Amino acid sequence: MTLADFPRYPLLFGPSPVHPLERLTAHLGGAKVWAKREDVNSGIAFGGNKTRKLEYLVADALADGADTLISIGGVQSNHTRQVAAAAARAGLRAVLVQESWVDWTDPLYDRVGNIQLSRILGADIRMVEAGFGVGFKESWENAVKEIEAGGGKPYAIPAGGSDHRLGGLGFANWIVELEAQEAELGVFFDTVVVCSVTGSTQAGMVAGAALSGKPRRILGIDGSAKPAETRDQVTRIARATAELIGAGEIGDVELDERYHAGIYGIPDESTLDAIRTLARLEGVLTDPVYEGKSMAGLIDLVSRGEISRDSNVLFAHLGGQPALNGYTSVL
Ligand code: PLP
Repeated sequence: MTLADFPRYPLLFGPSPVHPLERLTAHLGGAKVWAKREDVNSGIAFGGNKTRKLEYLVADALADGADTLISIGGVQSNHTRQVAAAAARAGLRAVLVQESWVDWTDPLYDRVGNIQLSRILGADIRMVEAGFGVGFKESWENAVKEIEAGGGKPYAIPAGGSDHRLGGLGFANWIVELEAQEAELGVFFDTVVVCSVTGSTQAGMVAGAALSGKPRRILGIDGSAKPAETRDQVTRIARATAELIGAGEIGDVELDERYHAGIYGIPDESTLDAIRTLARLEGVLTDPVYEGKSMAGLIDLVSRGEISRDSNVLFAHLGGQPALNGYTSVL
């Protein structure tokens, strides 16, 4: 089976936009910086990187005869919000296990942003106490059993839609989509900067690059603050995805550990500076959990010349802005 043969349930507008960040490029004085915008990839509940992955998972759920999507994430999970929206669109129920991944005391943290949107979207939300981790969880398995016991047919989607047979397909296809855009624009992005936590975004890109045979650097910026686990997960998913789509050996899995601010879900000064810099130069918003951190990495690497001046760098903007509402005490 080739990548193009895997069924997709349409959730995206089409190819996500690619455009230059001219004022940021001039400000940094190094490589040319562009963005590819998963934050505006869909008309469904603000989209984001999970919406692209979910095109494949929802098609599989429907083929399975499932009636309920069940998934897991932190309280301000962008992923569970996108599962809620995809379920609504496909006429399925959504059960969401929301864990306490982040110890954050903003007064409305558990009521605004993603969690508010998931409630409006009609998801059945279960708040639980467990802490951060990208692996499988007991609370999630219990919810699967409960739905089965009630006669429902659940389709289980792990955190971030990542540790799943089809989890890497969305971003393998992102590379195919990007190559067509590059041909149209007459530019080649030798370096992609991408935030990595549950891993299948970067892993899919690595598998997609292996399929294309056109080597490029896929530079992961760790946002998990548990980089060993994230690196293992990216490598495992990249290899499995490459095999699934008939790509050859994958290239290096590169994960930079310098910009996660020491803890998942909490920004440091460099994260907040990056958010403000991009917003004030380009009018583009990023969040304090994911793209604020990968943008902090990009700004540092480009301005110090660690990414060389003659590079064309593509910033993968993966969404996540709804969480900003939960961070009023720092932004
Ligand atoms: N950016 C945003 C906005 C996200 O919601 C996520 C999800 O975790 C990521 C980046 C990281 O992607 P992944 O979990 O596939 O590594």
